[in-house]
Amino acid sequence: MQIVSRNITFHVHLKNRSEEDEVADIKIDKIDKFYGNVQVIKDVSLEIKSQSFTVLVGPSGCGKSTMLRMIAGLEDINSGTISIDGTVVNELPPKERNIAMVFQSYALYPHMTVFDNMAFGLKLEKRSKEEIDERVQEAAKILQIEEYLSRKPKQLSGGQRQRVAIGRAITRKPKVFLFDEPLSNLDAALRVQMRVELAKLHDNLNATMIYVTHDQTEAMTMADDIVVLNEGVVSQKGSPLDLYNGPNNLFVGGFIGSPKMNFISTKITSKSQDKTEVDLMGSSTINISKTLSSANEGDAVMLGIRPEHLIINEESDGSWESKVFVVEKLGSGTFLYLEKEGEPLVVQTDGDSNIKVGDTVKVGFSASRCHIFDKSSQEAFK
Ligand code: ADP
Ligand code: MG
Repeated sequence: MQIVSRNITFHVHLKNRSEEDEVADIKIDKIDKFYGNVQVIKDVSLEIKSQSFTVLVGPSGCGKSTMLRMIAGLEDINSGTISIDGTVVNELPPKERNIAMVFQSYALYPHMTVFDNMAFGLKLEKRSKEEIDERVQEAAKILQIEEYLSRKPKQLSGGQRQRVAIGRAITRKPKVFLFDEPLSNLDAALRVQMRVELAKLHDNLNATMIYVTHDQTEAMTMADDIVVLNEGVVSQKGSPLDLYNGPNNLFVGGFIGSPKMNFISTKITSKSQDKTEVDLMGSSTINISKTLSSANEGDAVMLGIRPEHLIINEESDGSWESKVFVVEKLGSGTFLYLEKEGEPLVVQTDGDSNIKVGDTVKVGFSASRCHIFDKSSQEAFK
């Protein structure tokens, strides 16, 4: 099979996995983790489907690496259980969990060749020379590093080194791959390329993969399921578009999507059985087509609207006037920064827009595109 991505060709010779091939689902049940008396993972429960590509995403320090290390067995759990394929693995040492992990730092042995780096784990497992040879060649082929097998790591670029680290994981044929920010050390163009390659690797290996990143773009582009982690708590889990279209709370609304969702602090001005109106920048009201059963007149709310859902100088459900103070032209689109109390409002408009700094524009949106969050609980009204 030949797979062509942007500027690279994979020759994938792996057979399609047959039914008896092992893949694993992972069940995490009510786990807590403390460092000293600081709780960094708080009652987390998660089910990770067999063969899925699940991305754990969240800001730095929210507990992503800790979660991954607990699944790998590199970190004890204070309470709760982790099961792989129906077996509780809390007490199993890492090497008995049938898991391979790839880190941000490649952690290759500098004095060993690429081949030996990739063969190292298999030698420890006392595999035959023929089997080691076959598995290393197969992984090298998938990752297109065959011609580098006799080089030392320092003779490789960062991207090639990260491939070797991934290759080392592939040779072990694990049931589960764990990736901890593996692309963070690569430059932007290579990151985009490796994103595509990892997604294809997942399609070809059919293994269960858990991928940790702080980058919502990586999460959106690669995941079957995204788990948003915030301060040790699962904020929301769902498909990329579920999270984009239906964030459960202010945090997920602001974290998923780039540039981020705009938030307008406002209140409910009137509410009846069939309509709910909120104040719009003090200049008009908008009837949001949602029932908001638990909201009341006068409640303070946050209205969330994405830059791509704001409309400039066109008819809309509700609008106000605003002055443009920054224009960013990207070619494919233009971002306008509009004056507002607090953070500016960002609007995405056409690439060939001729709006200039200092212009006053009419800003509006369709009511069905807005998200309403309770200001105190930060939960979304659905
Ligand atoms: P992330 O990978 O999301 O950036 P981590 O899982 O590495 O976050 O860390 C979560 C929290 O736990 C952070 O506040 C971090 O400082 C703390 N932490 C991580 N490892 C240790 C440790 N070995 N000892 C004490 N605190 C730690
Ligand atoms: Mg980390």
